Amino acid sequence: MKSVIVVGGGAAGLIAAITAARSGASVTVLEANEKPGKKLLATGNGRCNLTNMEQQPNRYRGQDSAKAWDYLKRFTAFDTLRFFSEIGIYTKNRNGWMYPNSDQAQAVLDCLLMEARYQKVKLKLKQQIVDVCWDPKGWQVKTDSWTYTADAVILACGSPASQIEGASDFGYRFARKQKLPVVSMEPALVGLRGIGDYYASWAGVRIHASVTLYLEGMPMKMEEGEVQLTDYGISGIPVFQISRYAVRGVKEHTRTEAVLDFLPDFTEEALEQHLKTRQKHCPYKSMEEQLVGLLPSKLIPLVSREASNTQELISRIKHHVVTIKGASSLSQAQVCSGGILLKALDENLQSIQYPGLYMAGEVLDVDGACGGYNLQWAWTSGAIAGSAAAKEKL
Ligand SMILES: Cc1cc2nc3c(=O)[nH]c(=O)nc-3n(C[C@H](O)[C@H](O)[C@H](O)COP(=O)(O)OP(=O)(O)OC[C@H]3O[C@@H](n4cnc5c(N)ncnc54)[C@H](O)[C@@H]3O)c2cc1C
Repeated sequence: MKSVIVVGGGAAGLIAAITAARSGASVTVLEANEKPGKKLLATGNGRCNLTNMEQQPNRYRGQDSAKAWDYLKRFTAFDTLRFFSEIGIYTKNRNGWMYPNSDQAQAVLDCLLMEARYQKVKLKLKQQIVDVCWDPKGWQVKTDSWTYTADAVILACGSPASQIEGASDFGYRFARKQKLPVVSMEPALVGLRGIGDYYASWAGVRIHASVTLYLEGMPMKMEEGEVQLTDYGISGIPVFQISRYAVRGVKEHTRTEAVLDFLPDFTEEALEQHLKTRQKHCPYKSMEEQLVGLLPSKLIPLVSREASNTQELISRIKHHVVTIKGASSLSQAQVCSGGILLKALDENLQSIQYPGLYMAGEVLDVDGACGGYNLQWAWTSGAIAGSAAAKEKL
């Protein structure tokens, strides 16, 4: 019987362990925390948006997103639903975003752990792995005080994003030490910090707006939805969706701007007409007063300041430029972009350089859009790596 060690008891590690055990391996999961799946419990605000039925290649990013999509076609969102249905999770669909019917991430983790136990997966907690190396006796997986040996290892230790205990860059550091190709891990699905000192004045506003990312003046990506205006800049799902490009833009010293349209339902012409009508009905109102009832009060002085005519006012409402200086913080990020490059791996997520070493989840250079895509990547990569690690002979 082949022995497999999984480093990390998160989403990717647990599905990898179950899949490997179902394929006949003797599996041990080594997890640094005193409990597995801590990040999984935080997903979807505790409700766990476990996948998305709108699967498209462009929802997955990284240097080799085409290769990521090849893996994703082999274990799809339907396979995810089938897997979870088999282990007891009945799902509900919110516009394609899938959740457990109980709206509890804990239920997803509990079902994974029950299945892992049934498949005789050994789960060892408080095992902080400090090194993984090859030896003629097999793979050596080391803590400070113990060395485990196995025929194959699956590295599923996630990323340093979030302040959840266990979030770590161990996989990245390990890959660099082993001379595996990597790209730096940067915060993604995160709020963006702007240059300027006025943000305290709009902090707390939530507004339906569009946000367009410009890199060196070129429009790159547009998202619309509820934008949160914060004391450091901008946040909310539309901002999360553009954030990985913005953070990398800043890192590459590219001029990075987010242009907010606070009234995306109006064309400029329609807004001009609307403002003229308001003026006609209430000629006694100043330009600022005309905006009461149209925009949140905290935004009114900001957009009307120094606007001497209607055209300037419209421009400030529909083209508010926030020059980005970076992510709000790594601890606020939901995921990281970057990681170990897919070109280091074969079709089974096995290292080409180190046969018997597999990788899965966020440690790899694949980051998904907000909406269940990151967990889908964890399920896909974990399932593929798990079943291959159990079967392949070295
Ligand atoms: C607040 C928040 C909300 C999110 N919501 C969603 C959502 O709704 N939908 C979605 O698709 N994605 C969501 N994500 C992203 C998703 O949680 C991750 O992409 C996913 O958990 C990655 O799975 P993983 O197994 O690769 O890593 P993790 O789930 O992070 O698991 C890695 C495990 O490895 C352990 N570990 C790390 N280093 C070591 C070491 N040296 N030795 C031993 N163990 C180690 C860690 O303790 C951890 O348990 C969210 C993330 C956050 C932070």
